[in-house]
Amino acid sequence: MTILSPSPETLLDRQCEQRSELGYLETMLESSARRVVIFHRGKALMSGGALGYFDPATLPAVPPAGTISVYLAKTLEGHGLPSGTDVLLQVLPYDAGDLAWVPADAEFSGYRDVASSLSAGDVEIFIEAQAVANWHATHTFCPRCGTLTESLSSGWMRRCPKDGSEHFPRTDPAVIVAIVGPDDKILLANNFAWPENKYSTVAGFVEAGESGERAAVREIAEEVGVVLESLSYVDSQAWPFPRSLMLGYMGYTSSSVSTPDRVEVRATRWFSREELQAEVLSGRASIPGRLSIARELVERWYGGRIVEADDSDAAELIASGATA
Ligand SMILES: [Zn+2]
Repeated sequence: MTILSPSPETLLDRQCEQRSELGYLETMLESSARRVVIFHRGKALMSGGALGYFDPATLPAVPPAGTISVYLAKTLEGHGLPSGTDVLLQVLPYDAGDLAWVPADAEFSGYRDVASSLSAGDVEIFIEAQAVANWHATHTFCPRCGTLTESLSSGWMRRCPKDGSEHFPRTDPAVIVAIVGPDDKILLANNFAWPENKYSTVAGFVEAGESGERAAVREIAEEVGVVLESLSYVDSQAWPFPRSLMLGYMGYTSSSVSTPDRVEVRATRWFSREELQAEVLSGRASIPGRLSIARELVERWYGGRIVEADDSDAAELIASGATA
């Protein structure tokens, strides 16, 4: 049976063709209608609990020396900002000097700390901004000759003034797999880096010259000792920490034997649907948050939403004996 993923809701138009035109960024920087998202040291400036879209009139006329401006997107219907708003990013330099101009109700926050409270439109901008900000922060010099490169194409390309080489934001593909075994149970892993009750899908990087499917089979064999007999691709998620693209699969095996590598993975456990819901509801097990592709894969297998103890409908489920 083929399960189709609906096309994602489109809330942004990145203006990919227009933004590489000469003078596009400069024109945008003169527009008083633009809104500005600000990143510093990998964190976004939040305002009143949401991603800050600052009116340029409220910001210093001249940003701190070394600030990089990037054109992010024009908002579309449903984003939250008025449709057609041009959103730009300012990536402040690591040493940005005195930040006394930052409004009193604003603070820099990391994505993981605020993700659960962001709107879909804010998530899309945050992730795009994070990815391109990370790239500028770590790719300042030419990999061929070591010369300081300059930001062009509205912040989407860097060029070496010495040898003319052009450099673009990098993305590292990674695979993440929900393992489904005999009796339709799911195999989840507990990593040494996590609390002992946290379980998730298994993930790893695609190596140079390797397909996503081969990487999935290899990673699953290495980390949990399971041989996958078939795979189906489900969905992907940009995860710019620092620059991953997670390719999500369901992987199928007919064996219920698994061997944690004891290097990264501490333990593995098979769950039936009833067991997983009961363990999550009781707090005996925790699974990844709802914005993650790991959760999406687990719920794809589960066939719906897995209820957590602090959800509004948890009490009803507990009363019905689901945690027994
Ligand atoms: Zn160079």
